[in-house]
Amino acid sequence: MIAFIDLSAQQQRIRPQVEAALLRVLDHGQYIMGPEVFELEASLAQYCNVKHVITCANGTDALVLGLMALNVKPGDAIFVPSFTFAATAEVVTLVGATPVFVDVLPDTYNLDPLKLEKAIDLARKHGLKPTGIIPVDLFGQPADHMQIEKVAKQHGLWSMVDAAQSFGSTYRGRRAGGYGRLTTTSFFPAKPLGCYGEGGAIFTNDTELAETLRSLRIHGQGRDKYDNVRIGMNGRLETMQAAILLQKLDIFDDELERRQVIAKRYTEGLRDIVSTPVVIPRTTSSWAQYTISLGPSVDRNMLVQAMEAADIPTMIYYVKGLHEQPAYLSYPRGDMSVTESLSQQVLSLPMHPYLEEAVQMHIIETLRSAISSSKPMRMVG
Ligand SMILES: *Cc1c(COP(=O)(O)O)cnc(C)c1O
Repeated sequence: MIAFIDLSAQQQRIRPQVEAALLRVLDHGQYIMGPEVFELEASLAQYCNVKHVITCANGTDALVLGLMALNVKPGDAIFVPSFTFAATAEVVTLVGATPVFVDVLPDTYNLDPLKLEKAIDLARKHGLKPTGIIPVDLFGQPADHMQIEKVAKQHGLWSMVDAAQSFGSTYRGRRAGGYGRLTTTSFFPAKPLGCYGEGGAIFTNDTELAETLRSLRIHGQGRDKYDNVRIGMNGRLETMQAAILLQKLDIFDDELERRQVIAKRYTEGLRDIVSTPVVIPRTTSSWAQYTISLGPSVDRNMLVQAMEAADIPTMIYYVKGLHEQPAYLSYPRGDMSVTESLSQQVLSLPMHPYLEEAVQMHIIETLRSAISSSKPMRMVG
C-alpha cells in the first residue's frame, strides 16, 4: 500500500539525530519547559523572521490562547471560513464568542474577502459585535491576506491567521507567522512540520501580546506559576516534542523543496482533466495536502474505489462544510454554495516529501484512466 503521508521514511532519515536529542532530554530531566523549548522558540522566530514565538500544547490550544490574549468575549462575532478543520470554529465557541461562517473561493479554497463584507453585515443584524477574523491557509496555500486585512482595517477588526497547515509557506516574501496580528500553527504529526505527538505555536511581532500569551500558557502566571494574574491554562509544549522538532527543522527546507517538485509533477500530469490547486501570485504553498477538484461530472465514489483497488489511498478534506456539521448548525452564515459544491468534488492525493517519482507517476496514471472510464454522474447501488 502506498502511504498517504509517509512519516516513516522521514523518521529513517533522521532517526540517529532524534534518538540523540531524546537521550539528552532523558539526561537533563527537564521534561516541562526544558532548554529545548526555548531553543525551538528562538529557531522558529528566526526561521519565520518574527519577533516572538510562543510554543504550546497543540494547534487548537494555540488558537484558544490567541483568542484569550485578544480578549474575545461573549457577543463578539469572529469570522471563520466554512471550509476548514473543525478547530478553527470550535475555539471561538470555547471562549464564549460566536463563529460567523464565510464562504471560500472556488480556486484556492480560502476565505472569500468579498463574502467577508457581507458576513460582517449579517453579524451586525444578529446583534453581534464584529471583532476579528481567523483566515485559514488551507492545504498550505496562503489566503489572500492583503485583501482580508483591507476589509479588516475598514471595520476595525484584527486577523489571527490559522496557519496549522501552512508552516513554511510564504506570502509576498514573508513566511507564515509574519502576517496578521497573530499567527498560529500546529505540529500534529501529519502537518508540514510535525512532531511525534501534540504540539503547536503562536507567532507575533507584538511584544505585549507575546507577554500575555506566555502568561496564559502557564495558568495566567505573573512573576511565577504561583502568582496568578489572569485566568490561563496548561498549554505548554513538552520538552521531548521540542527536541524532536529541532531535528526536523534542520531538514525542513529540503522537505519543502521536495514538496514543490512533487506538487508541480501532479499539476503537470493532471491539469487537463481536473482542477488542480491554484497558487496565487507572490505566494508559495507548503503543500500540506495536494487537493484537486473533480468537477460535477466525475463520480467521486467510483474514483476513490478505483484508486483503492490499485492500493492508492485518497482522502476527502472535507466531506462537509463546517456550517453543515451538527455541532455548528446554530451559527449565522450567508451563502455557502462554494463550500457545499467543493465538499462534493474535492479529493486529496498522497502528498509527502518522500513520494518517489515512479510511485507518483503510477498515481497520476491510475487517476487519469479512472477518470476517463468514469461514467458521467449517477450512482449505481
Ligand atoms: C490541524 C489543524 C488545527 C488544529 O491543530 P491540532 O494541533 O490538531 O490541535 C487547526 N486548524 C487547522 C486548519 C488544522 O488543519
